[in-house]
Amino acid sequence: MAGLEVRDVSVRYGAGVAGVTAVDDVSLTVAPGEVLALLGPSGCGKSSLLRAVAGLEPLAGGQVRYDGADLAGLPVHKRRFGLMFQDGQLFPHRDVRRNVAYGLETLPLTRQERDERVAGLLDLVGLAGYEQRAVPTLSGGEQQRVALARALAPRPRLLLLDEPLSALDRQLRERLAGEVRAALVETGTTTVFVTHDHAEASAVADRVGVMDRGRLLQVAAPEELRTAPASDRVAEFLGLRA
Ligand code: ADP
Ligand code: MG
Repeated sequence: MAGLEVRDVSVRYGAGVAGVTAVDDVSLTVAPGEVLALLGPSGCGKSSLLRAVAGLEPLAGGQVRYDGADLAGLPVHKRRFGLMFQDGQLFPHRDVRRNVAYGLETLPLTRQERDERVAGLLDLVGLAGYEQRAVPTLSGGEQQRVALARALAPRPRLLLLDEPLSALDRQLRERLAGEVRAALVETGTTTVFVTHDHAEASAVADRVGVMDRGRLLQVAAPEELRTAPASDRVAEFLGLRA
């Protein structure tokens, strides 16, 4: 199938009885252009699953496939996936333009093409004209927007976002969640977005996968999760039950 397919994936840390099963036999798909949120409490295995998809964590079982091909043995940098974390990890000594252009340096683009792409991405994330700003002069929200532009710049075939808004205050987070969704939809970017915040998951995603203790409990559109939660645990986690 086209897009991402996670098939019976498990991730374990340590061996034997001392080992932890962080991801337990999870299967899911993300269609081309779709935004899927992975939602669940801290420690439920969201980051482990994301890292396994990226190729940063070995699989204890199962397969990660993209556009029908098994990615086993394909190293991280050859997957053409983009990654972004809670702390966008911008290069502090590069200006905004050179941060966003980072992933373009190895592509066969003229300087003008590269500058145009950077300008277009900054416009997309609401930072038009910020090219020459120094990273330490940016607010936390602005830094995460730049990190998003940088992650989108090489046009990754899958974007993996791990709690990209969690370090921001709630008000800003809610506004940015809508803006992130708009940028992902406009660029048609196939995305997995990890969060522990159900409002954020609903604002960002076409479908939400609810995780608990390494397992995927339900995957559904936000509205369907609210109206037809598959279990008490899902309802509880969405704040529908006390
Ligand atoms: P989440 O991102 O949902 O908070 P994680 O994937 O980070 O969850 O962690 C899932 C489980 O795996 C937790 O019990 C955590 O303690 C454990 N874990 C995560 N990373 C490691 C590691 N490198 N070594 C051992 N255990 C780990
Ligand atoms: Mg995590």
